[in-house]
Amino acid sequence: MSRSDLLDALGAIVGAASVITDAHALEPHLVDWRREYRGSALAMVCPASTAEVSAVVRACALAGVAITPQGGNTGLCAGAIPREGVLLNLRRMSRIVQVDAEGHSMTVEAGVVLAQIQQAAREHGRLFPLSLGAEGSCQIGGNIATNAGGMNVLRYGNTRELVLGLKVVLPDGEVWDGLRSLRKDNRGYDLKQLFIGSEGTLGVITEAVLRLFPSTPQRAVAVVAVPSCEAAIELLARLQRRSGNGVSAYELIDRACVDAVARHDAQYARLLEQATPWYVLLELAGEGPDGALQELLEQQLGEALEQDLVADAVIAQSLADTDRLWAMRHLIPEAVRGFASVLRSDIALPIAHVARFVDEARELIGRERPGGTVLCFGHLGDGNLHFNVVDATEDKSWVHPLSQRLYDLVAGHGGSFSAEHGVGQAKTEELARYKSAVELALMRRLKAAVDPADLMNPGKVLAGGAGCRS
Ligand code: FAD
Ligand code: ZN
Repeated sequence: MSRSDLLDALGAIVGAASVITDAHALEPHLVDWRREYRGSALAMVCPASTAEVSAVVRACALAGVAITPQGGNTGLCAGAIPREGVLLNLRRMSRIVQVDAEGHSMTVEAGVVLAQIQQAAREHGRLFPLSLGAEGSCQIGGNIATNAGGMNVLRYGNTRELVLGLKVVLPDGEVWDGLRSLRKDNRGYDLKQLFIGSEGTLGVITEAVLRLFPSTPQRAVAVVAVPSCEAAIELLARLQRRSGNGVSAYELIDRACVDAVARHDAQYARLLEQATPWYVLLELAGEGPDGALQELLEQQLGEALEQDLVADAVIAQSLADTDRLWAMRHLIPEAVRGFASVLRSDIALPIAHVARFVDEARELIGRERPGGTVLCFGHLGDGNLHFNVVDATEDKSWVHPLSQRLYDLVAGHGGSFSAEHGVGQAKTEELARYKSAVELALMRRLKAAVDPADLMNPGKVLAGGAGCRS
């Protein structure tokens, strides 16, 4: 089939206006959020239903043309940037199909923006706890495909724990309808788990049933200055004990990140009086009488101040304060993006190893890249750090060898080179390096069984090669 025949066939399925070939309109969809990868595609196709996705996938499979699924294109491993073929964008599939408040579940199409799901849950007196900096533009299909983590994993788990059922278009166009809201279902393999975190390499997620929770009307939020990483970890354990596991977020932020954010937005320049190496943004959430959590937090932080576990603290006194403190945290990725050359990482470690790892990693950077500045932040409650090294020079040749040394250190501590952002095309080399031969072979066999023609997001996760880094 010629290129123009295929485009005509796709136009007949989704409508000509939803087959986009204009270079200007395509441009933002071919570059990743960090502007490090640039791809190319025959066209961007925007189907409006599972039936249309199925027909598009079938037409491409018959023509032997690859498909790259794309949600909000906020992914941080360039998994949604196509190298060839058709870019399948889910933005038109943006319906909230049903909210079952009593049953604590919600059925949505894959293209619904995460913030709209959170809002719909709130309107029904429920909580959908997935929360991340990109929530105003990422889509639930992308969240599921990347098994996104974010701020509330400590209490509610990763996206994987929040999905009850899925509908997926398989690489040959067949539809697997696994849209169930059952809490228990042990009829053989749990197939939805295969697609969660598969980054679009095994099929296109078109709908999902999500798990909702009772809303937590009480929130107490603070930013605290702590003298060390160990102190931050000790404070977390203590707060968990004394709040009945009420800590819903526990974000570690180093001084360099706070300074970078303050340069970005001056209102954060004098957040706390005390200059310590580390800060924590923490949130307690739960039910109970008005003000009770706030009181508990004040009392606990007062005690921690007396014992020098905490050097300084600012506790949000209003919803506006709470939003302002969280906005500071959400600004960090943007502030890190501004540097000329950056080693980025998204690593997971056993919590007991975090403090030792940070010391060793700083030592490594000091030795190998003395001019570099470490910018470290992350979801400490989950042992997940974004350990970055930035440099003002344009020279990027140091980044790759040093990141390998860093990942070797992570592996030595029993950790992971990818905690929550996935593999995409940015970390395929690391996957090949750090996964065992048995694991890699099993992953390849699964991929070959589901997508024998290798047309579903080829070059991502399992592929070798350099990707399309610009
Ligand atoms: P995209 O970027 O469009 O796609 C991501 C991957 O999923 C690609 O491989 C794509 O092919 C695939 N995909 C997308 N939709 C589908 C579908 N319907 N079916 C099958 N495959 C699909 N992540 C975290 O985990 N925690 C964080 O705290 C966090 N913070 C972030 C903060 C910022 C400022 C930004 C920009 C990103 C952050 N991320 C974070 C990255 C996170 O992975 C993404 O924001 C989000 O999960 C991806 O959703 P998306 O709709 O943008 O997906
Ligand atoms: Zn993160």
